[in-house]
Amino acid sequence: MTVSPAPAHAPGQTTGAATLSAAASSHHHALVRGDDVGALADLLLATRPLVLTGAGISTESGIPDYRGPDGRRRVTPMQHGEFVGSSQARQRYWARSYVGWHRFSAAEPNVGHLAVARLQRATAAGAVITQNVDGLHQRAGARDVVELHGTLAEVVCLTCGARADRDLLQALMADANPGFVDRATSLVADGSQVSSQIRPDGDIVLADAAVAEFRAPTCLVCRADTLKPDVVFFGGSVPKDRVEQCFALTDRADALLVLGSSLAVMSGYRFVRRAAARGIPVAIVTHGPTRGDAQATLRVDAPLGPTLAALADRVDAA
Ligand SMILES: [Zn+2]
Repeated sequence: MTVSPAPAHAPGQTTGAATLSAAASSHHHALVRGDDVGALADLLLATRPLVLTGAGISTESGIPDYRGPDGRRRVTPMQHGEFVGSSQARQRYWARSYVGWHRFSAAEPNVGHLAVARLQRATAAGAVITQNVDGLHQRAGARDVVELHGTLAEVVCLTCGARADRDLLQALMADANPGFVDRATSLVADGSQVSSQIRPDGDIVLADAAVAEFRAPTCLVCRADTLKPDVVFFGGSVPKDRVEQCFALTDRADALLVLGSSLAVMSGYRFVRRAAARGIPVAIVTHGPTRGDAQATLRVDAPLGPTLAALADRVDAA
């Protein structure tokens, strides 16, 4: 397929502004610039970009980022070494995750996820490498999604390697812990026992007393208490074959589009470095500064959902 570059839009040109207004949620209008959307559309129509997404694309689905727009951590995430090294850490994780799962699993794809899927259908945009573990790209209809940091939908036993579905595990935890959610969340009244905010890896903050009574799940095959969500915790490593797959995708692409990532962790940033080293265009759409700003050939600092919705509209109209 031959794709011709669309004409460039001069700064200040208002082409597509009407589309933008229709697509953007009201308080975001002023922050999405038509010429940014035009430049992104030109890139998408002229190349076959690889897409790399981070937590920023899921915040509008109610799953917060670990980091705010200033790049600083809001919460301390579970550390890999702590999780694998301590039954108590796993009990704490599973107690929190059990309570948080209902809200996490109820999250729906937002306009940003839907726009990525639309862009894949409307342009030559290729695979999506996501740092998110929420499965929302796939649910929005995106194809060729590589979950760089794994998925919360599956659980793996660190002792015997057995795998289980997270929904099944949730049901087993419910059987083993009758009334736990009500007891844990009833402590919320004083405002200090349980966080109302869910974390990116699906857990919430619970009081130590609540955690202590939680019966953590054990492996259905070997009975060890070493079940781990199939995600890469901070301090853990992305499996080598997955990294190689992502480097291969980067090497086949002729542009890289980064959406909603501060690129603070090397696991995603290395693909930006690889793309920059190859000399292909790197476009970054993220609210707030990113570690890849020096490598970016196109940088859009704007809310993701409205920007991507406007972009998909622009590309559809091209
Ligand atoms: Zn096992």
